[in-house]
Amino acid sequence: MALTFGIDVGGTNFRVGVFQGEKLVEQYRVEKNLSLMCKKLLPEHVGFEIIRMFTDKITFLMKKYPEVDAIGVGFPGFIDPATHILAQSPNLPGLKNINIAKELGDQLGKKVVVENDANAAAYGEYCLAGKPVTGLIYLGLGTGVGGGLIYAGKPFVGQHGTAMEAGHIIVEPNGSRQCGCGNRGCVEQYASASGVAISYDELTHQKLTAHEIATLARTGDEHALKAYHQAGESLAMMLAHVQKVLDVPNVVIGGGMSQAWDLMQAAFNARLDADLIPVLRGKIHIKVSDAGDIAGMLGAAMLTLS
Ligand SMILES: [Zn+2]
Repeated sequence: MALTFGIDVGGTNFRVGVFQGEKLVEQYRVEKNLSLMCKKLLPEHVGFEIIRMFTDKITFLMKKYPEVDAIGVGFPGFIDPATHILAQSPNLPGLKNINIAKELGDQLGKKVVVENDANAAAYGEYCLAGKPVTGLIYLGLGTGVGGGLIYAGKPFVGQHGTAMEAGHIIVEPNGSRQCGCGNRGCVEQYASASGVAISYDELTHQKLTAHEIATLARTGDEHALKAYHQAGESLAMMLAHVQKVLDVPNVVIGGGMSQAWDLMQAAFNARLDADLIPVLRGKIHIKVSDAGDIAGMLGAAMLTLS
């Protein structure tokens, strides 16, 4: 039976899942700091080197799995749905205006499908949830806040591939926190790992990681709890806005920060209930992902078949 590679690309590593249908057969993690690699290269060399690096790694794995006939890639960045050209990747400087699917496909001689990483994770969660007809919203809490919407059985990406950029919904108008997107007060500046670190720094003038702050919060540290409370509240404000537009009741929360959901949940629930229009209150089903980090790989692999 044919196999598929599903690749989930992150800033400091990428993971390759070998799938038989929806079943994960094997997975590989490649430590590679792509952000750093891009920063070190001349901008005009970034695209070439990225393609060469992925070609080398995938070719190596294909020797072990010659039955692989398609490769799906969840890649951070804005991908134009009509041309498949990646316009920009905010965390991979210099990488722009490149058709990764075509370049990799030509090198590997296989079908390659490239989708935005959050959309791929959303599709993976959608498959794991049994493909609900009402669709699904995915929110990925990591270094940033990613969003994906599965609607009518496929990722809804919009005209320019930027639909569901939920992390850039403004929850603090004229807020002091400058976002990478150019605006101020985006939810990503409050509800991501870096956002929690900023909140804690503002309260204590100490620079800790979100993970360290979570550990402190679990010992009852007031400021650490407040930083996570603010994350939960900001996330709920954003989701209430999104639900007023979309009314898609299945929401899956994933990403590394979802492990600290217990620290955000009470503030999140209270705020969501207050901000939703009354008819939607109590009707939004929030689920913390139990797929670990498989959803992104699965979604990427399954999008090659859709
Ligand atoms: Zn932003």
